[in-house]
Amino acid sequence: MFGGTFDPIHAGHLRLLGAVLERLPIEVIHVVPAAVPPLRPQPVADAEHRVAMVHIAVSGTEGLFCDRREIDRDGISYTLLTVREMLREMPACRLALILGRDAFDKLPRWHGFDELRTLVDFVVINRPGFDAAASPPPWMAGKSMATGFDLDAPPGRVVALEIPPSDISATELRRRLADDEDVSDMLPPDVYAYIREHRLYA
Ligand code: ATP
Repeated sequence: MFGGTFDPIHAGHLRLLGAVLERLPIEVIHVVPAAVPPLRPQPVADAEHRVAMVHIAVSGTEGLFCDRREIDRDGISYTLLTVREMLREMPACRLALILGRDAFDKLPRWHGFDELRTLVDFVVINRPGFDAAASPPPWMAGKSMATGFDLDAPPGRVVALEIPPSDISATELRRRLADDEDVSDMLPPDVYAYIREHRLYA
């Protein structure tokens, strides 16, 4: 599962997803836009627009799936609820949460983190200024970051993946769109066309 606000989805997200699919034995990645993210300012674009952009960006790539369950669920988009649901639906599956190192460092603040870490593995990706495998946080209790999954071990394993970094952020992308700058190198052409068609972030 790869969750986020995706306000909008951009080339940094897609590069990360491509690297994960290529380098880890993962069958499918559910890309899950949050309706009401608990720990950050609320998204600028309407949830339906953000889902539409994720759908456009992932369709055509085998292994990527736009999952709108958090948009369709009432209330705050707690990842724990999403994870419980997914495991109920797919009891034979092992689930990993994919997240940038910036997001990973905030995990202990997430709702139900103690339960969450018993249910899923984590795949941590570098972002400029954040090395994926930089000193493990205290909650890992001295365990080091892994380089691959271990299906015989209980969930809660942290796999660090270094990829060629991308300095794209949605915040910067929105600022440039508001200033009417060309952002064609920051997101897929079809997503850019959607943004212009619906005058998002203008
Ligand atoms: P903002 O700039 O508004 O904070 P964002 O792109 O960081 O936006 P999200 O859409 O919520 O915000 O990000 C979803 C996930 O993607 C997070 O785990 C985040 O760490 C990761 N991520 C976002 N951009 C990058 C990037 N350029 N490289 C690696 N990971 C990224």
